[in-house]
Amino acid sequence: MSNRKKGASFKKHSATSIVVIGLGRFGTSLALELLKGGREVLGVDSDERIVQNLSDRLTDVVQADSTDEAALRELGIQDFDSAVVAIGSDLEASILTASLLLQLGVPQVWAKATSTAHGRILQQLGVQHVIFPEMDMGKRVAHMVSGESLDYVPIDEDFVMVRTEAPELFNGKTLAEMRFRSNHGVIVVATKRGNGEYVPSYPETALETGDVMIVAGRSEQVDLFCQLGL
Ligand code: ATP
Repeated sequence: MSNRKKGASFKKHSATSIVVIGLGRFGTSLALELLKGGREVLGVDSDERIVQNLSDRLTDVVQADSTDEAALRELGIQDFDSAVVAIGSDLEASILTASLLLQLGVPQVWAKATSTAHGRILQQLGVQHVIFPEMDMGKRVAHMVSGESLDYVPIDEDFVMVRTEAPELFNGKTLAEMRFRSNHGVIVVATKRGNGEYVPSYPETALETGDVMIVAGRSEQVDLFCQLGL
């Protein structure tokens, strides 16, 4: 199936069928990655040119206005396992679409929020997964730009995982000696030396300056830990 016309019904075939609504940069990248992972993906956008441009990369892509309940029903959206609302700047379209998806009974609804207020409204509607890609990426890059970490991945509201380099202070010490968990409240999950591979950490793992460490813990404690070497 390719480049479906508005009104053509999409039948679900696999256990994880996902509809991505709004094919801007975020929605397109998400839909292509899901497709790469073998998922059944339907892309929806109201802009005919976007649909045309993506028709050779996304197997199923249709032009439709997701705020139109009849159009969603015609596409069989109610039969999908998950839906992602990837409309950001048009707040009204994002909220109306999310509300219709919940009303149609799509089991898992994900929606992108562009501000805290937008996120709060989506949560109040009952959207199960509200994501903040721009805000999260901003936070992540701030930690990298400040030199605290090589990468920063928020796992939950107050729990993060970072990739950071062992400072001079840790040189020649084992993890057991450094007692990171009791002294700093963080866990070193894995380490990597030079061009080697990541290896899971053991108490006897010895560190050298510049070793790359994957560290997990509450965000405040991980931030303080990463500042030890600055
Ligand atoms: P990006 O992912 O590029 O950052 P954005 O946050 O700027 O996107 P928008 O430009 O608001 O998000 O919307 C993304 C896509 O959603 C656009 O391609 C737009 O055509 C589409 N879109 C907006 N409203 C609707 C709608 N009612 N129905 C379907 N698609 C829509």
